Amino acid sequence: MKNEADSVENSKTVIYVAGNPSLYPLEYYDPETETYQGAIPAFLEQFAQEYGYTVTYYQPGPTDRRADLAANQQVDLISGCTEGDSFAHTSGGGIPLFQAEDSGETISYQLRLTRVAPASFQKDLREFAEGQSQEVWSGALLTAAEESPPSQTWLAPLAAGLGIAVCLLLAALLLLLGRRRRKGRQAQAARLTDPVTGIGTEARLAQVFSHSLNEHNRILFCLIYFRLDLDHIGRLGGYGAEKDFRQFAVQTLQAQATPADTLAQTASGDLVVLKMTEDVKTARSWTQTVLRKLKEYDCAGHPLNPQDATAGIYPLKAEDRQLDTVLFHARQCALAARREGKECRVCGAEHCKICQEERQLLLEVSRGLEQQEFQLYLQFFVDAHSFQIVGGEALSRWNHPQLGVLSPGRFIPLLEREGRVSLLDFYSMERACAFLEELAGRQTGNFFVSCNFSRQTFSSPDFVKQCSAILERYAFDRKLLILEVTETQRVSKEGHAQMQQNIMDVRALGVRVIFDDFGMGFSSFHDLQEYPMDGLKLDKYLVDHMWTPRGKAILGGLVQTGHALGLTILAEGVESDQQVEVLRQLHCDVLQGYRFSVPVPADEAKRQIWDRKQAD
Ligand code: C2E
Ligand code: CA
Ligand code: CA
Repeated sequence: MKNEADSVENSKTVIYVAGNPSLYPLEYYDPETETYQGAIPAFLEQFAQEYGYTVTYYQPGPTDRRADLAANQQVDLISGCTEGDSFAHTSGGGIPLFQAEDSGETISYQLRLTRVAPASFQKDLREFAEGQSQEVWSGALLTAAEESPPSQTWLAPLAAGLGIAVCLLLAALLLLLGRRRRKGRQAQAARLTDPVTGIGTEARLAQVFSHSLNEHNRILFCLIYFRLDLDHIGRLGGYGAEKDFRQFAVQTLQAQATPADTLAQTASGDLVVLKMTEDVKTARSWTQTVLRKLKEYDCAGHPLNPQDATAGIYPLKAEDRQLDTVLFHARQCALAARREGKECRVCGAEHCKICQEERQLLLEVSRGLEQQEFQLYLQFFVDAHSFQIVGGEALSRWNHPQLGVLSPGRFIPLLEREGRVSLLDFYSMERACAFLEELAGRQTGNFFVSCNFSRQTFSSPDFVKQCSAILERYAFDRKLLILEVTETQRVSKEGHAQMQQNIMDVRALGVRVIFDDFGMGFSSFHDLQEYPMDGLKLDKYLVDHMWTPRGKAILGGLVQTGHALGLTILAEGVESDQQVEVLRQLHCDVLQGYRFSVPVPADEAKRQIWDRKQAD
């Protein structure tokens, strides 16, 4: 009977196996992939799938460690045994798998269960093994022998036992299939190693994480995530600086790491160390030493910023089975350290809770978009002189089934950090276009709608293609759609050029483009020169500080410069009559803020627009 309870994916029982590294082709260690291969691993894999277990070889390596692992009770199963072998703490006899003749003697190859193996697993494994006939094993052996052997010692002693006919067949198969398999292994080795730095990839880290760590020893490790601001280093040091710095960082880590540590590089270019230390203090001081050495880097004569390299330290817990969850936590800690102006941060219980919630939200975004949980709100714009409503800004709200209505502050920064904001940006644009199409059918004049686009989205290579695809689906006057480029994230040098091109191309489609939050963050007068825009929206901060002489002078200067360049000037966050007065004196064109209206659901906005039209 199958173990039904354990067949649920996330409650699978994990079984640890001590493998025999030199029993080709039944079971052997493959140094290229650093895994055990052969007919027994294939048999166990099939068993695991059918009976709902996770079967993991414990710390695969070229040395036979079965005696030690059995003595320390670190594994549930001792594999690749023959009848005569004896191991500590194994009980109940072996599970016979396969018999072979050797010089007239019959050898039985078997598995041994240790005392810590769960009873239900013992029963399931016996049942599955009994169902495998000798013919099935012969087939499995031939399949395993398609793999070329790891060394020349492979023929003894098992091959003798298999008989000459089978060996000849194996040899023929090896000739035929060896080349194909070698190619596959080369591809796998390439997948595990970063070609530039020569250290492991995330796939390699995942392999170590699942093969070498278990419930017992996981707590002896910390995962340390080094977040490198390669973009800033690139700007600081010029061409090639990012590559040089990454190489320097890898060498620094290699020099500081011990052989028990595993180094890897993430897809985004950050570095990760799976460090063997259960003491958080030691992990922290080791991390600080590494960071100090990294900051000594001479970037074309410029010193690095403290925020160019920050780290998150995640002490592993026994139940941490998922590498990607652990990586997410450690990365969020490194980013939090950066935001807080610290060099590193240990993932504590409170922070982990926030991370857990954010991770959950992130996993739910796709569902939210599919189920139309994201809703379009509109906040009106008014003409600065007539106070007539002239348009509205599309703002997202997430009507989350469990958490209620979430405002953008809860999900936009998270989506931006995780590089997922474009999903929402295009979704909102689509809703805004549908809104404009509906208004066009009702002749509501020149009411325009602006949508927010993160710089990340705006500087991506397929931005214009995606915009045109959406525009093609809706009929309305293109100039009524305005794209607001928001300020939250800096773009790289390449992103800068791409954004410039995207602005020109998207404007050629007839839509207009403005800078949001102008005067704050990363936008500057320099941007006005670089990017061909239609308008700018003065940031709320400037509007709030217009009372000081400096504030008023800056605001006045921005409006004048903008007008000289033919740009429309909008002001946001307008809350009082006094602010309205000053902004009119300064010749702002369009105003927005709680003084005029709060964001309202799209249907409510539609109703107000029609009511007003009827009143005219
Ligand atoms: P934003 O584009 O700068 O939008 C203005 C924010 O200020 C809105 O907050 C709005 O409700 C609020 N606000 C408007 N008038 C006033 C005022 O007079 N006083 C004060 N104190 N606040 C005012 P909201 O809706 O929470 O949006 C926050 C930010 O989220 C937006 O800032 C925008 O950058 C971003 N956002 C919203 N939807 C999207 C989206 O679909 N894509 C992207 N990339 N960002 C979005
Ligand atoms: Ca905006
Ligand atoms: Ca804004």
